[in-house]
Amino acid sequence: MSKIELENINKYFGPNHVLKDVNLTIEDGDFMTLLGPSGCGKTTTLRIVAGLEHPDTGTIRLDGKGIVNASDAYFQPPSKRDLNLVFQSYALWPHLTVFKNVAFGLSIKKVPREEIRDRVEQVLERMQILQFRDRYPAELSGGQQQRVAIARAIVTAPKTLLLDEPLSNLDAKLRLDMRSEIKRLHQELGTTIIYVTHDQIEALTMSTKVAVFFEGSLVQVDSPLEIYRNPATLEVADFIGNPRINFVDAQARFTMEKIEVTSCLGSWTYKAEDFTETGFPQNEDFKCILGIRPEQLLLRDSPGEQSTEVTIYTAQPAGSETLVQVQVGDNLILIKELGNRAYEADEKVYMEVDPDSVNIFNEKTGRLLK
Ligand code: ATP
Repeated sequence: MSKIELENINKYFGPNHVLKDVNLTIEDGDFMTLLGPSGCGKTTTLRIVAGLEHPDTGTIRLDGKGIVNASDAYFQPPSKRDLNLVFQSYALWPHLTVFKNVAFGLSIKKVPREEIRDRVEQVLERMQILQFRDRYPAELSGGQQQRVAIARAIVTAPKTLLLDEPLSNLDAKLRLDMRSEIKRLHQELGTTIIYVTHDQIEALTMSTKVAVFFEGSLVQVDSPLEIYRNPATLEVADFIGNPRINFVDAQARFTMEKIEVTSCLGSWTYKAEDFTETGFPQNEDFKCILGIRPEQLLLRDSPGEQSTEVTIYTAQPAGSETLVQVQVGDNLILIKELGNRAYEADEKVYMEVDPDSVNIFNEKTGRLLK
């Protein structure tokens, strides 16, 4: 068992309010990624869980037992928390070889020598660093040291693993390999993982849940797919997805149980019950913003029932897919298309979108309406 609960966590650095009433539950076996732009408070949250930083208010429970209670000034020391930590700066022991760095945790647990050798070699192999087993940290590149740090943390098969940008120093190919190793490891061991990254692809591909932070506030906690399909706010929609989501201005109008949404892409009618907010004045336009993912748009050579005529701005072929930018009124809209049909600049084509796949945000609050 390893469940971590954060309740009403606030943290100030001087006048800077860096965590604003954060409430987050990490269930046993979750792979929870803390995601958000630089400076939003991810690392501070992880350091508070690890006991390296104290919150100004709030409580933290590990498996139901209080380990932090700011109002009683109770803080369990880091060494008592049974959490394994890997930071961006790897903090390897410089006087120990790679093998000994990784073996250390098993030696102090008095694991038999042969088992230590087998387990360390196995994990070094998974991290693709077995050939460096007799080198010292100073004789390794940053990316190699980073993998030694991960190996050291996982060799003991910990119940809980805290990882802060553990792949930041790796090249693209190694990062892909390590992503799959960490994901596989999570599935094999059932370890509860808290993983900090600003890389949304890492978050979407590895995690069971993602917690999205902006400026110290936790904005959404959901499965990666839910965050991608139904981002809670405009800023989450904008942060998640590569290439970026398209935003298009629109007007919505409530009439009886229906909502009519009009934009340069046409007019669509929705049922009021599909919307998260109701209570808008009847028969009055209010501003909203449509969020449409580039792969949700289709281009056709001839008009269909629901299509809009658009003008090609640019087309960027990228192997099996093509990124096409089209102009509709004042908007430039990006479409990700499978295949590599050639397009000419200024060519006229027809664009289709399924209205059900479109996200609609309240322009005033930025919150998801549908
Ligand atoms: P990054 O992705 O760049 O690591 P982050 O989301 O992990 O960013 P934090 O490191 O948690 O962000 O920092 C949150 C805010 O707190 C930032 O504005 C940062 O400058 C500030 N901060 C962090 N540590 C300290 C400190 N020890 N003293 C003062 N301010 C700090």
